Amino acid sequence: MERAPASQEDLGAERGMTDDIFDTSYHEKEGPKPARRYVWRNIVLMSLLHAGALYGLWLGAAPQTPPHAQGFLCFLLSFLGVTAGAHRLWSHRSYKASLPLRVFGSFCPPCSLQNDIYEWARDHRVHHKFSETNADPHNATRGFFFSHIGWLLVRKHPDVLEKGSKLELADLKADKVVMFQRRFYKPSVVVMCFLLPTLVPWCCWGESLCNSFFLPAILRYVLVLNASWLVNSAAHMFGNRPYDRTINPRENRLVTLGALGEGFHNYHHTFPYDYATSEFGWHYNFTTAFIDLMCLLGLASDRKKVSREVVLARKIRTGDGSHKTG
Ligand SMILES: [Zn+2]
Ligand SMILES: [Zn+2]
Repeated sequence: MERAPASQEDLGAERGMTDDIFDTSYHEKEGPKPARRYVWRNIVLMSLLHAGALYGLWLGAAPQTPPHAQGFLCFLLSFLGVTAGAHRLWSHRSYKASLPLRVFGSFCPPCSLQNDIYEWARDHRVHHKFSETNADPHNATRGFFFSHIGWLLVRKHPDVLEKGSKLELADLKADKVVMFQRRFYKPSVVVMCFLLPTLVPWCCWGESLCNSFFLPAILRYVLVLNASWLVNSAAHMFGNRPYDRTINPRENRLVTLGALGEGFHNYHHTFPYDYATSEFGWHYNFTTAFIDLMCLLGLASDRKKVSREVVLARKIRTGDGSHKTG
């Protein structure tokens, strides 16, 4: 089925970049597929992390283990760094954030990202621009496993590298917070992702070192990773398409719940510049509530929102009819 042309590009252009708007001119090259090259370092690392998370689950389920409210808080904070920071702010420029909020946002992603903000935002823009093609880093047409975690275990498809290198990314390069975080990404991961979540409960309220390492550090990290990967996998496969039936991304309530509001994915790919990633405001959307709170506190501004009329017109024009249009 032919993909519907993007609408509201004027609103997208208002942000100073349109790299996340689907590019209809790209066509996959004919010929044999490039050889699959495994990245063994990532395979070993991910295997160890997931084995550690399973052990953390076993520890957490033990009756003598106290409830880990701080682990949940750490999950929320680190995940917000991905959803409100790396995704809605830096990848899509869907609102503006003050310096203190950007500094805070750059501290959270090392707890939960696979890459630094610059690389994450570049890959995410390529994902939107060339969605479901060879140039999409986690192309969901290659199956659930590939779009979930497999794409991190193999070398990128040449088209991903080529298209990624052609993005200008001037806004990211001009953002000193982003470039500082990129420069010190590796040590910040060690400190923010593993050391702090382990040392704080161990030193401050006498949690055992083993529990502190495997619950708020390892298990929490793996849960954040998998919840964000579900947006690339499940939300591209399961659910309805009320805004654009010609694209793969879907509205997936389970992903929405687990990923702090990031599962309204058919809406998000249709209107990537909308800061709420949904037409329903705070409904199942913790990230939108957080951004609104930051605006109330004067730490964020200039939220981009698609009008109700435009959403309704788009539903009628290209939706699958699964949402009421009246
Ligand atoms: Zn996005
Ligand atoms: Zn997507």
